[in-house]
This record gives sequence, C-alpha cells and structure tokens, in this order.
Amino acid sequence: MPTDPKRCIFCRIIHGEVPSTLVYQDYRALAFNDIKPAAPTHVLVVPRQHIEALAGTSPEQEALLGHLVRVASQVAQQAGIERSGFRVLINQGKDAGQMIDHLHLHVLGGRPLGKMA
Ligand code: 5GP
Ligand code: ZN
Repeated sequence: MPTDPKRCIFCRIIHGEVPSTLVYQDYRALAFNDIKPAAPTHVLVVPRQHIEALAGTSPEQEALLGHLVRVASQVAQQAGIERSGFRVLINQGKDAGQMIDHLHLHVLGGRPLGKMA
C-alpha cells in the first residue's frame, strides 16, 4: 500500500509539521539528523518530493537521485567526516529493513563502520 504523503513522517518533517534538526536544505532536498543515530554522524537526506523508494524510480528522476548523492557528500563535508570517511546507504524494501516509505539516504560516519560489502 502506498503511503499517503499527508501521513508520511518525512513529508511532515519537510512541511515543518514535525520537528527535526535540519542540517541542509534546498529546493529539491532536505537533510536532518536521524532521531536514533547509529553513528556519531547519522543524517538522512530526503527529496522534497514524496518518492516511496529507490526501486521504481524513473529515468526522469536521475538528476534528482544524483543530486541527493551529492547532498550526502556535502553533508559529510559539513559534519567534518569527509577525510575520515563515511557511508551513504539506502535501505530498499523488507529485507533491507526499510521502515519509512519516503526515499532517504543515510549518511553515517564519525567512527569505523565495519565492512558489509
Ligand atoms: P530506514 O530503516 O527506513 O532506512 O530508516 C528510517 C530511519 O528514519 C531510521 O534510522 C529512524 O531512526 C529514522 N526516523 C524514523 N522516524 C524519524 C523521525 O520522526 N525523525 C527523524 N529525524 N528520524 C526518524
Ligand atoms: Zn513522504
């Protein structure tokens, strides 16, 4: 079942209806601290547009997807973890444990993260 953007927690953050600690914003994207950080830096980068997930994105959305990746890098630079290193992660669907059905990139860093792949 697609999430109604009116009920989507990230849309509500984007519209200022739910508080968050913003670290970056522009007309296409927003970045805010994760409420339950898994690392000293844990920021979520989201498109303002309600896109449910990475799967199903269209060629027309390529520029936006590229922008989100670049914002992730900018956020890492701002957080001072560009040199020490960081991870950019998208959870897609059930097996990856995607909990919020509004596309988001996790930016994690500030400690050694271990290797998964
Ligand atoms: P997912 O598992 O869907 O990839 O990640 C969702 C992330 O959103 C989790 O890391 C969770 O802690 C974070 N999150 C869930 N609800 C909120 C919220 O209301 N505010 C913020 N800032 N983060 C949230
Ligand atoms: Zn949404």
